[in-house]
Amino acid sequence: MKNIEVKPWALQGFDMKKPIIIAGPCSAETEEQTLTTARQLAAQGIKLFRAGIWKPRTRPGAFEGVGTAGLPWLQKVKKETGMFVGTEVASAQHVFEALKYGIDIIWVGARTTANPFAVQEIADALKGADIPVLVKNPINPDIDLWIGAIERISQAGITQLAAIHRGFSTYAQTEYRNHPQWLIPMELRRRMPQIPIITDPSHISGKRSLLQEVSQQAMDLNFDGLIIESHCNPDKAWSDAKQQINPEELQMLLKSLTYRNPSIANVPRTLLDDLRTRIDDIDNQLIDLLRDRMNISRQIGVYKQENNITILQSRRYNEIIRDRNEKAEKKGLNPEFVSRVFESIHEESVLQQSIVMNKKQVNH
Ligand code: PEP
Ligand code: MN
Repeated sequence: MKNIEVKPWALQGFDMKKPIIIAGPCSAETEEQTLTTARQLAAQGIKLFRAGIWKPRTRPGAFEGVGTAGLPWLQKVKKETGMFVGTEVASAQHVFEALKYGIDIIWVGARTTANPFAVQEIADALKGADIPVLVKNPINPDIDLWIGAIERISQAGITQLAAIHRGFSTYAQTEYRNHPQWLIPMELRRRMPQIPIITDPSHISGKRSLLQEVSQQAMDLNFDGLIIESHCNPDKAWSDAKQQINPEELQMLLKSLTYRNPSIANVPRTLLDDLRTRIDDIDNQLIDLLRDRMNISRQIGVYKQENNITILQSRRYNEIIRDRNEKAEKKGLNPEFVSRVFESIHEESVLQQSIVMNKKQVNH
């Protein structure tokens, strides 16, 4: 694979200095909502406007975007406010439509990046186009799939490239909508240092209360920018209402961030920094998993209470310890250590169950 060529975005009058800020609603809903939001964002100094026109939704029946009808609204935004406009494309048809309506920036969504056929189709449709293309990470934490999508777009002759880090789906319910797994974008940076990486705190957080923290983390890790969903009336948004903020709140968020001194930011991270971030990431996942496990223990407590079963089931306990030891040993872990961990987890689990049962008894 030859080196990927990356050039600064050729947007007339746009200065690509860090942090690159992209803001706008999850979806363009109506002409009025799109223009009102755009005017408010332009007044806050935002230069790059985002709005989804075609929306990939998990379940059918949810709002799937206004489609091509919304493209003239983005043209109006551009004409009236002078902002550059961007939207998500998921097929060749979307690319042709977006180019026809003079969309300035396009991005490939997380579900699309996970599908090489779709990415290839988009790449083929982009041949000869000269616009910035941003590639979101795939929903699953697979860095090669992410890199592969960037390579496909690059091979179509696109040089104005960037990656968007929007977090990853996990089985465990975490405080995030999509777990950031910071090590993955950091690894992308290591492997493709020339590609700007823009963090998407909105889709990582899934809720307003986490946006600031995630944005600050992105700045601390020296990523290049933020794409944040902002809507003139977030509570009434037709998609992703919980994570959107209004333009004024966006302004406050951006002002609250500490931007790293570039001379410090340029000090290369050491292997130790990377390893520590990795440990932090894994510990966070361990904590989430432990919380999920204790939640289940409490549900078991309720069941046992209702069915009059004793908490301590020694056969089950012995079985757990034996099974976990065997698995741990196969994976090269010290079985004594694993026994200690599971004994401790089991002890807490019993405690949680008895708390639930006692509470129920008091309530009865
Ligand atoms: C979006 O940016 O609105 C979007 C659909 O994001 P993602 O592809 O990251 O889910
Ligand atoms: Mn969204």
